[in-house]
Amino acid sequence: MTGCQNGSYEVKIMKRKILFSKETIDQRVRELADEISQEYEGREILMIGVLKGAFVFLADLIRSLSIPCEIDFTRLASYGAGTVSTENIVVTKKIEMPIKGRDVVIVEDIVDTGLTLTYLINQLKKERPRSLKVCAFIDKKRKRKIPIEADFVGFTIEDGFVVGYGLDVNEKARFLPDVYIIEE
Ligand code: 5GP
Repeated sequence: MTGCQNGSYEVKIMKRKILFSKETIDQRVRELADEISQEYEGREILMIGVLKGAFVFLADLIRSLSIPCEIDFTRLASYGAGTVSTENIVVTKKIEMPIKGRDVVIVEDIVDTGLTLTYLINQLKKERPRSLKVCAFIDKKRKRKIPIEADFVGFTIEDGFVVGYGLDVNEKARFLPDVYIIEE
C-alpha cells in the first residue's frame, strides 16, 4: 500500500476486502456506456457528475460513450446527523451550465438512503430539462428511505461501506482502482 502514512488509515485498509476488481469495473462501465449510448442515440447529453465520489466513474463512463456529451459538476452536503429529510441537504457547488431543454444524466457514485438524489432531482427539475435520468455506479438497497431508483446502475449491493474508484473514507482511498468493502 503506497501513499498511506496515516496509521489509523492503514488499520482500516488492513480490514478491507475486494468487492469489484478494476477489470470487473471496466467491463461493467463499458456496458453502462453502451446502454446510455443506445438510449440517447442521435442526441447529445449533458452529464452532471456529483462530486466528489463520482469523478472517476464519470471520467471512465464518458470515454466509452459513442454519443457526444457535455459535462458539468455539482456538490451537495447533508447536515444534522440522524435526521431523515431532504431539508437537511445543501448544494455546496451549483451546476454552471444551463440545463433547460437538455437531455440530462446525473452521474452519482452511490444511491443509499436516496435523500441526496431526491433533493438533486427536485432541484434540477425546476430548470426544466428535456429529460432527466440517473446513472449510479452503486445502488445500495437496504437503507433506502425514499423509494427512488436510478435508470442506469453499475452494481447493486445490499449494504456495507465501500471505498476506492473515487469513493472515500475520510477523504482517503479515492485513488484505489478497485472497489473494496470495509470490514467491521
Ligand atoms: P444518500 O443520500 O443516498 O444516503 O447518500 C448517498 C451518498 O452517501 C453517496 O453519494 C456517497 O457520497 C455517500 N455514501 C453512501 N454509502 C457510501 C459508501 O458505502 N461509501 C462511500 N465512500 N460513500 C457512501
